[in-house]
Amino acid sequence: MGLGYSLVCKKCGYSRNLFAGCGMMYNRVLREETEEAKQGKHGQRLRELFEQYPNGCIDAMNNIYYCPDCRAVECECSLDFYRPKNADRDSEDDLFGPDMDELELVEAHTHICPRCGKPMREVMRLTDSEPVDCPECGETLESGHMLMWD
Ligand SMILES: [Zn+2]
Ligand SMILES: [Zn+2]
Repeated sequence: MGLGYSLVCKKCGYSRNLFAGCGMMYNRVLREETEEAKQGKHGQRLRELFEQYPNGCIDAMNNIYYCPDCRAVECECSLDFYRPKNADRDSEDDLFGPDMDELELVEAHTHICPRCGKPMREVMRLTDSEPVDCPECGETLESGHMLMWD
């Protein structure tokens, strides 16, 4: 289950739909992202982490990231790296099932802005408390109705 947001700029008409969370394909996405991370496709750092913690895992949840510098908004796979608290745990177990409690964060993945190359920050929820600005004109974006998807 995930959340869909529609962002609209009332000033210039910019609009964007974003989908956060995970859908029914989550397990497949997780497996693909894990394989890619092990092959170094998500950067050298993640590959090293998998070598260091062979039974570690990544969070393949889609999160929303915002660039405070150029106001770019992106929806990307989290790729934060976790390891089981119990080192005997088999990595084939359903990681990121109901047992987030059994995992501890090793390192949060740094998301780089595709427009300006600066680090982006994660936006937990697109609400009034965490407004994002229009990439085109800088006006605060209205966060439209949330759509549930799966
Ligand atoms: Zn605008
Ligand atoms: Zn940027």
